[in-house]
Amino acid sequence: MTDKTALITGITGQDGSYLAELLLEKGYVVHGIVRRASTFNTQRIEHLYRDPHDPEARLFLHYGDLTDGTRIAGLLERLRPDEVYHLAAQSHVRVSFDEPEFTGDSTGLGTTRLLEAVRTTGLPCRFYQASSSEMFGASPPPQHEGTAFHPRSPYGVAKVYAYWATRNYREAYGMYAVNGILFNHESPRRGPTFVTRKVATAAARIKAGLEDVVYLGNLDARRDWGYAAEYVEAMWRMLQQDEPDDYVVATGVSHSVRDFVEQCFAHVGLDWRDHVRFDERYLRPTEVDDLVGDASKAERILGWRPTVRAPELARLMVDAEIAALSPAPAAPVGAPAAPSAPELVGR
Ligand code: NDP
Ligand code: GDP
Repeated sequence: MTDKTALITGITGQDGSYLAELLLEKGYVVHGIVRRASTFNTQRIEHLYRDPHDPEARLFLHYGDLTDGTRIAGLLERLRPDEVYHLAAQSHVRVSFDEPEFTGDSTGLGTTRLLEAVRTTGLPCRFYQASSSEMFGASPPPQHEGTAFHPRSPYGVAKVYAYWATRNYREAYGMYAVNGILFNHESPRRGPTFVTRKVATAAARIKAGLEDVVYLGNLDARRDWGYAAEYVEAMWRMLQQDEPDDYVVATGVSHSVRDFVEQCFAHVGLDWRDHVRFDERYLRPTEVDDLVGDASKAERILGWRPTVRAPELARLMVDAEIAALSPAPAAPVGAPAAPSAPELVGR
């Protein structure tokens, strides 16, 4: 067990929720930054939360936005974490073509705001940047730490900026700042408009007779899909080394979108060709055709190795969607009403 304190940006996202689980299991006090929304955006971490008045509480949430540097600096100064995991971003590639400026501001410049906050507070804290295989873009596979970047979207461009900002703070100020270059990783907690989750949801709903078709874009693109719950372990290991460095995290195997669709539908006994329609709205102006990560450095130095590959991932995601469709057992008569959504965030 540790007595360390961690700060997670993007704690309400897929990776943030798995990482918070991992760090709490390891005994960390975990602080998370949550952006204010008019509806609750904390569903993925509600199971981890305890009322802050509870002396056992070790997860604390604070409002903040990557576009608000003053707030970020103030939080760093007050919370004084040992480790910062910077996961927050506008993370959707297709959306980044619609909102390139916001993507650059939050995903790119947001990283500089956080790095600068760490530097100016003079904390000896360790910094993790959520870099992405999208930075490789058009560079042919397999991609590794030395592969040239050729981003193909405003998202990829913003991540390249953030990658170099992280390296520059390491070189210029001697900060322990690392880039985890993670290839696509998925789970039942993946955002609903990423292709794996969209297809897993559709397969379950079509099987249940709730829908008949799903509209998709490019089925030829190939991705190296891993399981998010395993990838957060690699993030943590990167911050436990003697020296800061950058690492690719991937399975080393790619599948086409078509393969993944076929696997999801086959799992529920359906032929995908009867249920998938094309919609050009889901195409991107420039596509990333083929990502296959070479994670041998992470295996050699971090001792990290994935166990879940795409076919198993497809099955576990579809199973989770089927389970989510099953009605919850009815509460016995006279049982107390379910509590209203808790107010999770304080100062
Ligand atoms: P998600 O989209 O699930 O989560 C993104 C998080 O960032 C959410 O908590 C979101 O808050 C928060 N966020 C977005 N904009 C802001 C903002 N302006 N201010 C504060 N918080 C903000 O992403 P993942 O968990 O899948 O990914 C985590 C990180 O890893 C991201 O940086 C992503 O780009 C990167 N990455 C992901 C890969 C993947 O395959 N999943 C691959 C490689 C890199 P809210 O809940 O309110 O939306
Ligand atoms: P990305 O790799 O970060 O862009 O993750 P996505 O899950 O958004 O997309 C993975 C691949 O699936 C890309 O090549 C997309 O072009 C392709 N794709 C095909 N149809 C769809 C769709 O309907 N939605 C999304 N999000 N992607 C799609």
